[in-house]
Amino acid sequence: LKKGHIPERTCILCRKKTSKWELFRLCVKDGKVVLDKKQTLGGRGAYLCEKCIKEFKKKLNNKKVRSKLFYALRIKGPVEVDF
Ligand SMILES: [Zn+2]
Repeated sequence: LKKGHIPERTCILCRKKTSKWELFRLCVKDGKVVLDKKQTLGGRGAYLCEKCIKEFKKKLNNKKVRSKLFYALRIKGPVEVDF
């Protein structure tokens, strides 16, 4: 498989690197962090793998997890998470 044809992104939690189509994209819309299912929303995105997204909402009260999300999206908390 040649590199460069499929855009790769890194999961913000486990740092796994894979095709962006295998990851879930989060971005900020109307002041809320939402799941960008079609990966069409503009702005910065934060990517999570399937394994991590299941745990993600539970882990949101963890300061480290939150700061990873905020860093990836270049936002400053607190922000509402809506997905
Ligand atoms: Zn992950």
